[in-house]
Amino acid sequence: MDSFTLLVALALASFIMSASLFMLYRASPRALCLVDWSVAGLFLLASNCLGLLAISFSSPYWLTPALANAFYIAGHATILTGVRRHLGLHTPWGLILALPALVYALHYLPFATASVANRLILFYPIVAGIGLYSAWLLWRAPRSEMSPAYWPMMVLNSLFVLQLLARGCLLLRQDDMQLTLAGSQFLQTSGSLAALLYISVVTMCCALIVLRQQELALRRAAQTDSLSGCFNRHALLEMAKREFQRCRRTRSDFAFILLDIDHFKGINDGHGHAVGDAGIRHVARFTQASLRDYDSLFRIGGEEFLVLLTGSAVGEARQIAERIRASVEANSLQAHNASIRLTVSIGLAMQRTADMDWESVLRRADEAMYQSKAAGRNRVSVHGEV
Ligand code: GH3
Ligand code: MG
Ligand code: MG
Repeated sequence: MDSFTLLVALALASFIMSASLFMLYRASPRALCLVDWSVAGLFLLASNCLGLLAISFSSPYWLTPALANAFYIAGHATILTGVRRHLGLHTPWGLILALPALVYALHYLPFATASVANRLILFYPIVAGIGLYSAWLLWRAPRSEMSPAYWPMMVLNSLFVLQLLARGCLLLRQDDMQLTLAGSQFLQTSGSLAALLYISVVTMCCALIVLRQQELALRRAAQTDSLSGCFNRHALLEMAKREFQRCRRTRSDFAFILLDIDHFKGINDGHGHAVGDAGIRHVARFTQASLRDYDSLFRIGGEEFLVLLTGSAVGEARQIAERIRASVEANSLQAHNASIRLTVSIGLAMQRTADMDWESVLRRADEAMYQSKAAGRNRVSVHGEV
């Protein structure tokens, strides 16, 4: 294939990468990694434009290959900074900028000026190192709902590194290979095609990571109560149904702890609505702190919370409820130089074999909670126990 056409295609793909990821950034400005990836597209575009220049006119060594290759490495390094930024890792900008500068300087080694093949042997390991490091960062990121979106980039980088290795081996074995700048031998044509494929697919990989992140953020927002940060009713409908069925199937325990802040109207009336809101957040915080990682806390009404417990028998569930009650009582709310003592009335209900739906358990937890209110508040009642 002729190298001019391939370079035009590479320049176009780089431009599309830069422009599309920048437009995505404009639509979602919080995803700053898109800026890195868009700039990476610009570096790759600059590198390919310099290649085109060298084919069309005679260009000095400092421009092509020296600057063109430095831009190429900068492109790959900026894809890496985007990955680091996405993962919330610090970006060592000094190191990132030093890499293209180093590549530029290496062009003036006698080994590098001697032949195109020598330069490829020199720079393949750098590109491969960057690609492998990106893949490794994504690999060791904690397993989460984001993980499926990392696989395409991990696989792409690994394949790209593999083809670099294969072509590197070919170069080393055939040391009489006479490559010309932007030539069209198999080694260079296959390299350009691999780069074209990489740029096109990496654009989709970057977009996929950001879109997945946004989808998860939206889903989380739709399930979260904005005041307390707990799950909301919408999430309860989904999670309670799923967990109820699972516990029925596996014959494990399923329980609800329902809690209602005592005399909350008095706090609103005496200290204002803002302090009331702070009280709701305060109770949510101490309740959450009394739970285990796998228990779920929902805000299901004004000052009413629900805890979904699975795998806890009644004794353990009662202990958790008591821990919540004691923790809220022991930690007063500090507001406007006043220390406000809050208490909660709690109802606990366990799933029974006859229960056909989770709402039956919730109804009993509600009855138990009213039992606590009637018995003087700030206490735990277990449904069915006197
Ligand atoms: P009891 O001990 O019987 O539960 O008494 P109570 O005063 O807590 O009574 P009730 O549960 O009926 O009162 C709930 C109050 O919570 C009424 C409402 O004004 C207030 N409320 C509901 N949602 C919010 C909210 O988002 N913020 C604030 N500040 N207050 C709220
Ligand atoms: Mg209430
Ligand atoms: Mg109340």
